[in-house]
Amino acid sequence: MKSKDILVVEDLNLYAPNAFDEKGPALLRNISFGLGPKEILGLVGETGAGKSLLINAIGKNLDSNLRLTGGQLLFRHKGQLVNLLDANDEQMGEIWGRNISFILSNTRSRFHPLMTVGEQFSNIIRANFQVSNKEAHERVIEMFKLVQMPDPQQNFNNYPHELSGGMVQRVAIAIALSMSPTLLLADEPTMGLDVTVQRQVLDLMSSLFYDQNSSIVLATRDLGIVANYCKKVAVMFKGEIVELASVEDFFKRPRHPYSKYLLQIAFASNQKIEEEDVELDLAAKETYRRYDRGCFFADSCRISQERCWTEAPERIETSEYHYVKCHRGVE
Ligand code: SF4
Repeated sequence: MKSKDILVVEDLNLYAPNAFDEKGPALLRNISFGLGPKEILGLVGETGAGKSLLINAIGKNLDSNLRLTGGQLLFRHKGQLVNLLDANDEQMGEIWGRNISFILSNTRSRFHPLMTVGEQFSNIIRANFQVSNKEAHERVIEMFKLVQMPDPQQNFNNYPHELSGGMVQRVAIAIALSMSPTLLLADEPTMGLDVTVQRQVLDLMSSLFYDQNSSIVLATRDLGIVANYCKKVAVMFKGEIVELASVEDFFKRPRHPYSKYLLQIAFASNQKIEEEDVELDLAAKETYRRYDRGCFFADSCRISQERCWTEAPERIETSEYHYVKCHRGVE
């Protein structure tokens, strides 16, 4: 942990208790990382890896039947690190919006379809700041200009269905930005947008939040986005961070066989993928282990050894901000 970190997550677990099992299966396991001011951490992994769950777990935006436990979920609030695991709904109510904001995937469905986006945005401003209707309206127009909406006055009166996907994302960015949060939690914010619009939205998001001193946790399946926008990267596999590194270190020297696999399919699509470390039929092997032993990647790993099946790999620190959970991660 660095003294200036705004978010420190240590050994966080998320369980889904059920009628047959008081503890329930682990959806997130031993999650640990730190995030400094103005940094962007990319969470990568395939669908079902736990990226969205982690985004929502960090912001304690979870269904009430899920149980978040473990070491610590420290967030810098009013100059001090507070453990959000101990915060009740009232305390979280103070933190959401003004300190931790979300941009979740499928943004359009989160707007009321029968209210204009300007009206909805104004309501959010008035709920969080002591301002009049007129001031809230002016603030919305100001934010629309900042995120380069094509016609701020007209766009205020648009209904969500009248805006393109890129414009809806700009409205979501404007809403999050208007709160000046310390931390933005963004879950695949450009999913479904074409490449050009995707780049515009990400450029805007990263630069505006940087100017505001905000840090971002960004879930994405796109390693190109990680390379271009993030400072740090966490690779997730079946609810676990299997590798955490600075982006530079990660692209220079990935350690985990799953990271190497992701890099191969992302950047070598026209070449024959070397099946040195990984079998590529991961989808066919989407079976979670039913016992808490061994490495969760062993089913798909070409370099597994006997102990991989019986002994869960511990975190191996390979440099100041680089760890890998693999018995052979430092070979
Ligand atoms: S611990 Fe073993 S099975 Fe797991 S990724 Fe490393 S080598 Fe492969």
